[in-house]
Amino acid sequence: MKSQDIRKAYLNFFESKGHLIVPSAPIVLKDDPTLMFNNSGMAQFKEYFLGNGTPKSPRIADTQKCLRVSGKHNDLEDVGFDTYHHTMFEMLGNWSFGDYFKKEALAWAWEFLTEVLKLDKDRLYVSVFEGNPAENVPFDQEAFDIWKQYVSEDRIILGNKKDNFWEMGDQGPCGPCSEIHIDLRTDAERNAVSGRDLVNADHPQVVEIWNNVFMEFNRKADGSLEKLPAQHVDTGMGFERLCMAMQNVTSNYDTDVFTPLIAKVEEITGLKYTSNEVKNISEEQNKTNIAIRVIVDHVRAVAFAIADGQLPSNTGAGYVIRRILRRAIRYGFTFLGTKEPFINKLVEVLANQMGEFFPEIKSQQQLVTNVIREEEASFLRTLEQGLQLLDKVVTETSGKEVSGEKVFELYDTFGFPKDLTALILKEKGYSFNETEFETELQKQKARSRAASEVTTDDWKVLIDGNVETFVGYDQTENNVKIT
Ligand code: ATP
Ligand code: MG
Ligand code: MG
Ligand code: MG
Repeated sequence: MKSQDIRKAYLNFFESKGHLIVPSAPIVLKDDPTLMFNNSGMAQFKEYFLGNGTPKSPRIADTQKCLRVSGKHNDLEDVGFDTYHHTMFEMLGNWSFGDYFKKEALAWAWEFLTEVLKLDKDRLYVSVFEGNPAENVPFDQEAFDIWKQYVSEDRIILGNKKDNFWEMGDQGPCGPCSEIHIDLRTDAERNAVSGRDLVNADHPQVVEIWNNVFMEFNRKADGSLEKLPAQHVDTGMGFERLCMAMQNVTSNYDTDVFTPLIAKVEEITGLKYTSNEVKNISEEQNKTNIAIRVIVDHVRAVAFAIADGQLPSNTGAGYVIRRILRRAIRYGFTFLGTKEPFINKLVEVLANQMGEFFPEIKSQQQLVTNVIREEEASFLRTLEQGLQLLDKVVTETSGKEVSGEKVFELYDTFGFPKDLTALILKEKGYSFNETEFETELQKQKARSRAASEVTTDDWKVLIDGNVETFVGYDQTENNVKIT
């Protein structure tokens, strides 16, 4: 089944269960001071769970563009090195706002996976919350009993608070989760070691595909729990992981979500990517593979962010996007030998592939291409020199810690984000002095503050005691209106 059809099947299924299908919210958030990017499907519905406002329908489903590169969910370091965490990914989700609850949610999840998609039941495991008496949270007996109708008890795993309990903060709505995991190993491997022992253990072929969150309680200031007056369901399923399961492959990058992008990189560089089924590859090929995975992952994040209005810049969300792109450029330069802008050429492939469902990537294709090409050209102008300087610094360093001042010079003069320098240093077995870097950064900030009174950040969060107050786009630090 093609990825396009898998997405449609999900939305059609939940439409047939009375859900209103809505478009994805933008990947970039401009009106939420607590979050830079959408990192889960529920973000756009947060206010409904808090009881502010009423949704268009008590049952909603969609696919949400998510980005997990900052804050609580930051998967950036894993991307390219593993085969199932991305920066940008789609999260398929269905919601009940005070409508259906555990019985329907779990029954439909099971029906969709095993009857509509016909995934092999013997490869699926489910988890339920084990309970945590110290924090007044009970074992989720209800979910456990529901699952027993569908799977044998040895496929039900009791999970801890980290994996199986969701809360918005120290207070407020919270509740247990029930996850579904899939075991994609060979029969021989499955016979040798039970998949049960590999759930939530970072095994690349035993992965979580779907999380069902049951917002059941309200945590009060004294830490006790009370039942919420209305109970909600919030589910999220990784689309690319589901495609991996459906397309009989063992890496998200071997699905048709990524293969057209990879083919384009191969065409441009003349190098070959090897699928996850090819074993015993050389160290060199492994590096090529990692670099290609990083690039085809990062171009999606950057392209969708730009299409949604977030241009690369030197501050805030824009700097996050610039850093992701520079990371990809440097992987190409060092491991694929790309000395000219080329990542921008992947946008056309992406637009052809995703444009039907996400029209913004098609309508903004030219802008996105141009912005990425300019960014590439500009960083490539200083990249080689910067890398040479870094090599020199490493050679001159006694010990394993490079001076923070040098890392700052790379940042300031050569446009090297500090996490990029850290990554390159790590490859060489070095780290750098963070404190020295910060000192230099503060000195530079003081210099530029003196030079200009007006800040140009996208927005400002003013710290008011412990409460973060969003003051809007049209005010500066000094509360002076500039519009
Ligand atoms: P994991 O444990 O694999 O990191 P998670 O528990 O952090 O996943 P959730 O927050 O429960 O993920 O999100 C719901 C679903 O989204 C997951 O079950 C998974 O299928 C998918 N998902 C989460 N993070 C990523 C990512 N970085 N890339 C691709 N899919 C992801
Ligand atoms: Mg995670
Ligand atoms: Mg998890
Ligand atoms: Mg999860």
